[in-house]
Amino acid sequence: MDADFGHAGAMETAPDVDVQPRPSVRQGVTRFASEAAGRLSVSGRPRHPQRRTRIVATIGPASDAPETLRALAAAGMDVARVTLAHGSVGEAIARVRALRSAAPEVGILADLPGPKIRTAPFAEGGVVLAAGAELKLVPGSTAHGSTAEEIAVAADEVVHALEEGDHVALGDGGVSLLVLGTVPGGVMARVRSGGRLQGRPGVTAPARSMQLTTPTADDLVRLEALVAEGIDLVAVSFVRSRADMERARAAAGPGGPMLVAKIETREGVDELDGILEVADGVMVARGDLGVRVPLEDVPHHQKHIIRAGVRFGRPVITATQMLESMINAPVPTRAEVTDVANAVLDGTSAVMLSAETAVGVDPVNVVATMARIVARTEEDFDYVAWGDSLGAQQVSGPASSPARITAAITGAAWRAAVEQDAAAIIACTRSGATARAISRYRPSMPVVATTPSPRTQRQLTVSWGIETLGVPEAESTDDVVWFAVKRVVEAGYARSGDVVVVLAGSPDAAVPVADTLRLVRVG
Ligand code: PGA
Ligand code: MN
Repeated sequence: MDADFGHAGAMETAPDVDVQPRPSVRQGVTRFASEAAGRLSVSGRPRHPQRRTRIVATIGPASDAPETLRALAAAGMDVARVTLAHGSVGEAIARVRALRSAAPEVGILADLPGPKIRTAPFAEGGVVLAAGAELKLVPGSTAHGSTAEEIAVAADEVVHALEEGDHVALGDGGVSLLVLGTVPGGVMARVRSGGRLQGRPGVTAPARSMQLTTPTADDLVRLEALVAEGIDLVAVSFVRSRADMERARAAAGPGGPMLVAKIETREGVDELDGILEVADGVMVARGDLGVRVPLEDVPHHQKHIIRAGVRFGRPVITATQMLESMINAPVPTRAEVTDVANAVLDGTSAVMLSAETAVGVDPVNVVATMARIVARTEEDFDYVAWGDSLGAQQVSGPASSPARITAAITGAAWRAAVEQDAAAIIACTRSGATARAISRYRPSMPVVATTPSPRTQRQLTVSWGIETLGVPEAESTDDVVWFAVKRVVEAGYARSGDVVVVLAGSPDAAVPVADTLRLVRVG
């Protein structure tokens, strides 16, 4: 099965757009003479997109208030992440509903935690472990809290499986322990590298002691509730293989959300191509990845995962610690600013904020800061060289498959847009697949997806550089193109004399496929 097709959500109806007589449509360049085009002389060509790389912000106690959600969207949050790692699925769904009413244009990414093992909570303020100190690890069922002397692990089997000489990492911040041996009620360990632990840090132990399946049974229960809620995007943690994503897909069912594979293990890196074939998007999950591979390998994995995601035409989110110091500080470090800029230059589709916006002191300031860094970096992005350097999109399946046809025609559309100095590329799309396929070229001109589905509009918020406009359902390819160009001209992306490149399909085709490329001159 081709993952880019076949799981678009149920169609929703877009608001009405007034219908005007369609000009005759000929082969090749179509004359487009409408009063809509004339109206533009008033406003000129306005919205050249300011920022193309998208921002994902994690919502938490620091950002829950409706006025904060609105301010985050205004500051540049394109996608809100709601993690299910803390609290019940009911609480997560309440957060999703609050987001929908406060900021309906924002895409929502629900994040399933997978087999992440945490400690029992430390007391308010946390503890500091000093290198060389000895402590006891105990099964979580025997203790309700953790202290500096005794840390409870919320999965008994992990503690039972530990052996002398094992290394155990706590949190993402570099606290690591060496297991000294078994004692009654647990194991003794020595702190190899110390640091502060607060809340419920994650526990990383040797593979033999960790549960290896993802999605977990709990994830699947949560996924069912999220699907019933009509969620846009769902992230699956600790994905190790294509089969992991196929299990999530089967549970999500037809018409389910887009599924984002979080790459945060060595196996996930090794199986990347198989995962990308069946995932709709991918996340460079640097937090957990950094405790499972040598830290100095993380930047190389980041570049590799981004290139692979682009090769398959999938949106890529680069995540974790991007502006970490802003959890407490009003300005980021130079290293953090440079990290965000480098992720943009690597070609990521989106950059993500975690604790910075979930529990930080000033989430709106963090998003505004990230938006400024991204916009500045994009001034120096070499769009044409990027598109020129791409090979054909990697698509599994036969040459005539819809995804292969879409891949071929979007390559032609990008080339035509560059050669014609097009004002915009328009992707007329139902599922969003055509827009995602053209997005991988990172075109310099605006790319506008026109779609009758508000859900597709929200799902495209995670893709690089896609603006969206709602259009009514149309009955023929000519109508699809006509309404799309009309909307794009009205919205100010093109004006009289401009050439726009349009990708469209046949609205009545049994399987949706973008098989039509038109160059339209706005009359
Ligand atoms: P998490 O995933 O924040 O859900 O752990 C991202 C990461 O591990 O980097
Ligand atoms: Mn993680």
